[in-house]
Amino acid sequence: MHPAHRAATFTESVIREMTRVARTHGAINLAQGFPDFPMPEPMKDAACAAIRGDVNQYAITWGSPALRLAIAEKYRRMHDLEIDPEREITVTCGATEAMAATFLALLNPGDEVVIPEPFYENYGPDGILAGARPVFVPLEPPAWRLDPERLRRAFTPRTRALVLNSPHNPTGRVFTREEISGVASLCREHGVSVFTDDPYEYITYAGQHHPIATWPGMREHTVTISSLSKTFSITGWRIGYAVAPPEATNAIRKVHDFLTVGAPAPLQAAAAIGFAFDAEYFNLLSLDYRRRRDLLARALSDAGFRFTSPEGAYYFLADFSELSELPDTEFALWLAREIGIATVPGSSFYHDRTLGRRYVRFAFCKKTETLEAAAERLTKVRALV
Ligand code: GLN
Repeated sequence: MHPAHRAATFTESVIREMTRVARTHGAINLAQGFPDFPMPEPMKDAACAAIRGDVNQYAITWGSPALRLAIAEKYRRMHDLEIDPEREITVTCGATEAMAATFLALLNPGDEVVIPEPFYENYGPDGILAGARPVFVPLEPPAWRLDPERLRRAFTPRTRALVLNSPHNPTGRVFTREEISGVASLCREHGVSVFTDDPYEYITYAGQHHPIATWPGMREHTVTISSLSKTFSITGWRIGYAVAPPEATNAIRKVHDFLTVGAPAPLQAAAAIGFAFDAEYFNLLSLDYRRRRDLLARALSDAGFRFTSPEGAYYFLADFSELSELPDTEFALWLAREIGIATVPGSSFYHDRTLGRRYVRFAFCKKTETLEAAAERLTKVRALV
């Protein structure tokens, strides 16, 4: 049997491949961004109670009422955004499905999608599956700022959407109000939609997450996508969502229905509990991650890596050119094999792979012990390289 063209045009996820490389070499997995520490107890209890209480059949396709209500309430409380849970929210299997369903529901073959680069690898295949053409706009190191002029030059009469991911994976940028205003005015001017990817919205160290849907006139042009994976350390639960105006939501719900029918019902029941946590939970999340970031930052910089300190999310995109001239994929394999640390090669975040050849990405969503063990291993890099 031959694969269809659309499946033949992209490769498997490098991030998930590096998790397998980590297992092969017994390396500490700082590649795939998932926490190795437990999730909050009250949500565990709620999930067990939901299963014992026989919440085991399909939820409503677009999400359980309690979870949609909790999501709407979150946007009202935190961002002063009124969202109708009946007509504007779709709960999905992770932000991954929400983004894919949004591409499929709202883009036609030949439409162009502007994507700041480096970018999280899913947007490429999402574009291919929808027949849309990605147009990449570089974020320049070391500041990784969104340059409004370069952005403007990427817009053409075929531009239909822009993907905005802040806090940004892999650079850790949290885009400023000014940068987001630049995106908003361009998109309003050209009638272009914004698809946001906000899974790290609660993980910030400098600046704050500002949803572009709160900008004047942007509500009607925005699909706000996020997930509970990172906020509650439940990447395996696969719960995300898309918030969009009713007409767009109808289209997204139809695609979602035929892709997956729905996200797991008992886990949706438990997920709603998380949004009821008080502000302390969310403040502590960032504080905890700041400590993890600082621990790994010291180790990386002592080892000879260069990077801009992340303002949010939980990754370092680290330049290793002072250490080695190997291309990123070979350097990442060397690090896994000889040092015992798995990373993601930088080229997997670029369409022109040579642009990423000096970088590897380290994730720090790990226990203190894991990061300390990684720091210890990193002390050997200079001697062995
Ligand atoms: N978003 C996480 C990362 O960038 C996990 C990716 C995945 O495997 N879905 O590592």
